[in-house]
Amino acid sequence: MSQIPYKIYLSESEIPAAWYNVRAEMKNDIAPMLNPGTKKPVTLSDLEPVFCTELAKQELNNTDKFIEIPEEVRNFYKMYRPSPLVRAYCLEKALDTPAHIYYKYEGGNTSGSHKLNSAIAQAYYAKKQGLKGLTTETGAGQWGTALAMACGYFGLSLKVFMVKCSAEQKPFRKAVMETYGASVTPSPSMETEVGRQINKMYPNSTGSLGTAISEAVEVAVTSEGTRYALGSVLNQVLLHQTIIGLEAGKALEKIGEYPDIVIGCAGGGSNLGGLMAPFISDRINGRRNPYFIAVEPASCPSLTRGRFGYDFCDTGHVTPLAKMYTLGNGFIPSSSHAGGLRYHGMSSILSQLYHDGYLDEARSVTQTDVFAAAKQFARVEGILPAPESAHAIRVAIDEALKCKESGEQKTILFGLTGTGYFDMTAYMSYNSGTMSDYIPSDEDLERGFATMPSIEE
Ligand SMILES: *Cc1c(COP(=O)(O)O)cnc(C)c1O
Repeated sequence: MSQIPYKIYLSESEIPAAWYNVRAEMKNDIAPMLNPGTKKPVTLSDLEPVFCTELAKQELNNTDKFIEIPEEVRNFYKMYRPSPLVRAYCLEKALDTPAHIYYKYEGGNTSGSHKLNSAIAQAYYAKKQGLKGLTTETGAGQWGTALAMACGYFGLSLKVFMVKCSAEQKPFRKAVMETYGASVTPSPSMETEVGRQINKMYPNSTGSLGTAISEAVEVAVTSEGTRYALGSVLNQVLLHQTIIGLEAGKALEKIGEYPDIVIGCAGGGSNLGGLMAPFISDRINGRRNPYFIAVEPASCPSLTRGRFGYDFCDTGHVTPLAKMYTLGNGFIPSSSHAGGLRYHGMSSILSQLYHDGYLDEARSVTQTDVFAAAKQFARVEGILPAPESAHAIRVAIDEALKCKESGEQKTILFGLTGTGYFDMTAYMSYNSGTMSDYIPSDEDLERGFATMPSIEE
């Protein structure tokens, strides 16, 4: 019997020609986004001042199962895709498990994560519409970097509001974005109404994603020829990220494998939503029965401890409301939290799939356990993982160890979303033994829930 290779590559011509839109197949569609002013379901014309038109249409599309990937986007994909699907032989050996472990590695581009898959699509549609530029927010910096690359490629301007504490901790990230031509402003800034208000109310604010989003949206809607772009959470982003799962599905098919378990880390839900693509279709249509696990930080537990309801996507309440699992738009994770995935809400699509039992399980893990898994993985598989990705590694290892106990030979697929080169402060804290775990109390969470709007459904 010929052995399955370490890396299962597809050829360039096998890059999928269309993204998969799970909404066309979901038994219960997501609840509509609401206009923040009228609280009525948003229409295309509500979204058009914020997003470019083609993306606004994708955001609302619940009928087309496949949406063609424009040729210009496919050409860009060819520079760094198909991404490898790796059989984790060395990890399997180290764990002494009968499980077959595969990971889809998305860190092989300069931005260092899967975020480029959506960034290039969003920049393309903006260019096609004749816009001048985009605005966005970034937390850890991966999204800002990816969008800077994409805007640089299409000759668009980009203004990035970067969460202040992150901008201070990660000067190199800022330098990369600037190299690609973006301008980077620490948030909260004094350049926007929202930023000035937050600075007045909380003079020592180190920023949050929710505030940075408000600032970026404000600049987009008040500047001519400018729109806003978001790197996760939205339906359009999950759509673009299905390239990950569609490629993984094709590669697994080539070697005659099918995942029993599909694992992804979940911040806003885009990489997991994307990785699940062909497998969730099989599941919804009763063809196969893969088990899906979302992994989130114990310090920002939106699926495991959040509420399923309408909430604002930002702190300044300028964005539409989405029905999702959320900790409340005012929730801010503990400052000791180092591993990313710190957004208060979760993609409406993933939230609905979780609510309906298609996303089988959400599991929260503490950051010291996450970094232990990251280190173990780096030593045997060679890749230094992003802390976000290491959430998925943690659970993949735990599931593989269960297989060792039971003797079951399960096939496990997880998303290795990126590299950790810009996260060395967090690694240093783990290596020196100073990293701590903070799990929010019920009272902490109540304070977050109190910031959710009350919407009658
Ligand atoms: C942004 C990011 C994530 C989390 O975002 P999702 O939308 O939940 O996928 C995970 N891993 C890396 C490396 C990231 O940059």
